[in-house]
Amino acid sequence: MPAKASKKNPKQPAEPARKGAAKAVYAFGKKTEGNASMRALLGGKGANLAEMAAIGLPVPPGFTITTEVCNYFTKHNGAFPPGLDAEVHAAVRQVEQEVGKAFGDKTNPLLFSVRSGARESMPGMMDTILNLGLNDETVLGLAAKSGNPRFAWDCYRRFIQMYGDVVMGVQPRHETEHEPFDHLMASLKKELGRKEDTDLTAEDLQELVSRYKRLIKQRTGTTFPQDPYEQLWGAIGAVFRSWNNERAVVYRQKYNIPSDWGTAVNVQTMVFGNMGDDSATGVAFTRDPANGEKVFYGEYLINAQGEDVVAGVRTPKPIAQLAQEMPQAYKELEAVRQKLEKHFRDMQDFEFTIENNHLYMLQTRNGKRTGLAAVRIAVEMNKEGLMNEKTAVLKIPAESIDSLLVPVFDPKAEAAATVIATGLPAGPGAASGHIVFSASTAEREVKAGRKVILCRVETSPEDLKGMLAAEGILTSRGGVSSHAALVARQLGKVCICGATGVKIDYAKKTLVAGKKVLREGDYLSINGTTGNIYAGAIDTTDSEVKRVLKGQLKPEKSYTYQLFSTVMGWADKYRRLQVRTNADTPEMATSAIQLGAEGIGLCRTEHMFFEGERIDFMRQMILASTEKERRAALKKLLPFQRQDFIGIFKAMKGHPVTIRLLDPPLHEFLPHDETTRRQLAGRLGVSQEFITDRVRALHEVNPMLGHRGCRLGISYPEITEMQARAIFEAAATVKKLKNPIEVKPEVMIPLVGFKAELQDQLDIINRVAKEVMDSRQVHIDYTVGTMIEIPRAAVTADEIAELAEFFSFGTNDLTQTTLGLSRDDMGSFFDDYRNKEIFTQNPFATLDQGGVGKLIEIAVQKGRSVKKHLKLGICGEHGGDPSSIRFFDAVGLNYVSCSPPRVPVARLAAAQAALRN
Ligand code: PEP
Ligand code: MG
Repeated sequence: MPAKASKKNPKQPAEPARKGAAKAVYAFGKKTEGNASMRALLGGKGANLAEMAAIGLPVPPGFTITTEVCNYFTKHNGAFPPGLDAEVHAAVRQVEQEVGKAFGDKTNPLLFSVRSGARESMPGMMDTILNLGLNDETVLGLAAKSGNPRFAWDCYRRFIQMYGDVVMGVQPRHETEHEPFDHLMASLKKELGRKEDTDLTAEDLQELVSRYKRLIKQRTGTTFPQDPYEQLWGAIGAVFRSWNNERAVVYRQKYNIPSDWGTAVNVQTMVFGNMGDDSATGVAFTRDPANGEKVFYGEYLINAQGEDVVAGVRTPKPIAQLAQEMPQAYKELEAVRQKLEKHFRDMQDFEFTIENNHLYMLQTRNGKRTGLAAVRIAVEMNKEGLMNEKTAVLKIPAESIDSLLVPVFDPKAEAAATVIATGLPAGPGAASGHIVFSASTAEREVKAGRKVILCRVETSPEDLKGMLAAEGILTSRGGVSSHAALVARQLGKVCICGATGVKIDYAKKTLVAGKKVLREGDYLSINGTTGNIYAGAIDTTDSEVKRVLKGQLKPEKSYTYQLFSTVMGWADKYRRLQVRTNADTPEMATSAIQLGAEGIGLCRTEHMFFEGERIDFMRQMILASTEKERRAALKKLLPFQRQDFIGIFKAMKGHPVTIRLLDPPLHEFLPHDETTRRQLAGRLGVSQEFITDRVRALHEVNPMLGHRGCRLGISYPEITEMQARAIFEAAATVKKLKNPIEVKPEVMIPLVGFKAELQDQLDIINRVAKEVMDSRQVHIDYTVGTMIEIPRAAVTADEIAELAEFFSFGTNDLTQTTLGLSRDDMGSFFDDYRNKEIFTQNPFATLDQGGVGKLIEIAVQKGRSVKKHLKLGICGEHGGDPSSIRFFDAVGLNYVSCSPPRVPVARLAAAQAALRN
């Protein structure tokens, strides 16, 4: 289909011209109007071309059409804004003067490349057209001028092919059809008995050009445009349109790039890397983007155009070899490398072309890099004086720190593996093992010395042991704050959840992803950092940093550890927020302390009952139909609970510990299936009917809004009583040790919405505290606070603050209740919300600042209006999310609390927040 706007004079808009329309075209070259700070308007490529030209690097002159024009074009159905025509003509004339060639000139034609360039680079997602300006006449001029007719005709046929495809839409008509231009090329080669493209002579290529043009006429009913300006407008329109092609839209969603950023268009004088053996083209990084090492890293092809390097038609050579092949150009390139780093003060990824031994720079941008490379480059550039500490801290994406800690896949092996499905990346790292479908099989297999991936539709507390045993966890249902995700992250387990493309059949013991059918025992590999799922095994290794932290490796033996500790040192210097952890066991607490946690912000006491026979007593307590039965179960739970608190207090060595009273949404704890009920009945010495009846009686339609949180302690004060007793008795015990531990327990009440609820629980806690202190003859300094996790608590925070000594925002429930959106059920329609950009991010992973954030601000303000120094924290999953952390810093919280493996990320994000806010 011919392009809408491919007319000599661009289509005029229906609307009247904007008054005082903004400048739409910015030149670069001898006259340069933009600079590196203008990314939003000129796109990354345009802004940096201007910057390079301004600092005297050899940039072929050209001009950039702004992203604002793109937005106008999209909004006005493919029309260009008034006045653009004149601006473009003027810019072309400027380039003509500068290079001494003319656009459309028969003897000395100026050719352009037309490329996209968004604010953030979106490699390969949008369209490009090269050699624009060639037609039946200018091709002869180029042939004569270059003395190389074959080169000229090759450029012309490449141009027609690109233009025909991108602008005129001549593409395969169905999935099985070959690319039509390639098909013509192949049949011509066959006809003439030529093997390689390079065997085609100037005459052959001339014939190919005729056939290409015929193809276009046949398919579109229009002739290939000969007018250079018509070509130019067609190409500009096509690049703008490609902002909304499917690839680009998908990419934007993945990287949260707003659709209203738009792309700029860069029109630049063509230089040719395919002029012979003294010409070349290549891409290079100023440092190694995979590991950050300071080496010149890149590749090039002699006698080729840029597209050949990327397309993989010929295998490029490593950049070091250029020193032998073209010593002069290499020397210049090395000088450019130094200059780029000095100027941009970051690792650069750049494209260059050498035309008859002259070096030209076509692009530079901050190079994409792995997490490890990000850390290494920042630390080394700081040492080299290229960036100060604060800049270095800001340059490292906070998430990058994670990649120094998690087990990793061998990168080559992963690249060679095939993705069979994807899910939500819930627990970072790499895991590979045999598929198992139940927790008990997982345990058994691991005992037998095999590594397993536990694959469940979703997980529940009874899966914990299996989850612990497994290398990784995969669920086909549930979001990033689902049970599986939450527990996996706390355990530092690799986890992918909500992989809706995966069908798990427990009965058949199969895992089906598309056409791939895997069975129990087959190998599966999951990347919890990216969400990719692979069939088969991929090798993994424990990180060096982890080995140092565990004392298995000396710090001086690990450069990666030294990088890690340098960055963490910086982070601690600049952050305001304290970083605590969500931990329920002494092991978790210890590992969090190793990673730099300064306390426990949330100990979920219901999670302490996951293990062994405790879950039975816990269930017995929940299922109890009378106070007597409940007290009997509680009596059995008390010693475990007390012992656990002693363990945690010891592990925390005086660091603060916030203990939250029971908050078990009933559906997470009730036995669901017949087998579990039968087994439980046996163990508890009751009939199966009793269990079934009680489960039925306790059934809630909406357990997340049901009998949970403080509501439980209000109905059954004996539960609160038991927990308070366990906490204070444990505190008394550690205070009386031979080497006493100073503890100041922070008791936290969940799901409070009314001041009266807090008062009710407070009375019990204070009474029990007094009893324990009196009987043990010891003073325990404790505080009682509340979670703020339902909107009513937030908007009545001033009333609640009269009683609470601290607030901790439970942003999981606060998100659930503010958005009226179930934590457990949103997976089924999340994609629709993403696709329509109603959600740009998952609100359970990244705080909804406009809604939930407003409630937090209200609560902070109201709470502190009553108690000026009220301690404020956050313990929902958002506590480990960098952009949410920035918000928490801005509203003045005292700490964030996150799962142990997230602690380093949170420390770095908190420093970045303090530097940015
Ligand atoms: C919360 O709701 O944010 C929270 C921390 O509590 P839980 O996830 O245990 O409901
Ligand atoms: Mg909660």
